[in-house]
Amino acid sequence: MEIFLREDGFPCAACGVCCRRVHTVNFEHTLNRGDGVCINFVEETNKCSIYAQRPEFCNIAAYYDRHYAEVMSWSAFVQLNLQVCEMLKKQAMENGVDKGTHR
Ligand code: SF4
Ligand code: SF4
Repeated sequence: MEIFLREDGFPCAACGVCCRRVHTVNFEHTLNRGDGVCINFVEETNKCSIYAQRPEFCNIAAYYDRHYAEVMSWSAFVQLNLQVCEMLKKQAMENGVDKGTHR
């Protein structure tokens, strides 16, 4: 899968898995359309329909600046998040729900 460096510097694979598994995060009741997929996720394009206004939790750079900038380096935070990406992808594959974009 192609990896692209987003404007915030996070090497996202645009797999969309995180947006298809919002039931795994603690604010899921506000985003889950009922099957774990975010209400803002567009299946046809595999993208977020509110990307510019997405919640802080979905915005890794904003989340880092607000909660982790004084705790760890950006590169360490990216590595931690990439581990979460891999965990979500593994879970999705095991559950057969990985259709393949986006965070
Ligand atoms: S980035 Fe957009 S589609 Fe993905 S979980 Fe956040 S709000 Fe939903
Ligand atoms: S899980 Fe989300 S943030 Fe991670 S690579 Fe896939 S689309 Fe990007």
